[in-house]
Amino acid sequence: MVLKDDCIFCKIVNKGIPADIVKETDNFIVIKDINPVAPVHLLIISKRHYDSVLDAGGENGLDGKSGIFRLLGELAEDFKVADNGFRAVINTKEDGGQTVSHLHIHFIAGRRFGWPPG
Ligand code: 5GP
Ligand code: ZN
Repeated sequence: MVLKDDCIFCKIVNKGIPADIVKETDNFIVIKDINPVAPVHLLIISKRHYDSVLDAGGENGLDGKSGIFRLLGELAEDFKVADNGFRAVINTKEDGGQTVSHLHIHFIAGRRFGWPPG
């Protein structure tokens, strides 16, 4: 399955519903989160539908070839947070607090975050 009919992020990838797209690579689109929790809150969404990161490491997965680490560095430069830093988060399934079952990575920056998460 590359895209899923009833998935909101697949619709965003397909440009079926609007989103504020800030960057696009072979494997990901990057949009602004609709409900930001920090001055910079981006969602790095895989173009291919994976229910979660648990499905993204297998045969048709993204490991190694995804360019995700390069993309994180580029976003840090683009949003001028390379010096101060940022956080990249993959909420996964129920305990991880995932609400949209399509692989996405939160890129948040612009303030100091606490640890551990609540
Ligand atoms: P999760 O809780 O699955 O880790 O993250 C889902 C994120 O998607 C939330 O931060 C939520 O605000 C964001 N989100 C949900 N629906 C939409 C949408 O239609 N557009 C955008 N830009 N963000 C969305
Ligand atoms: Zn999807």
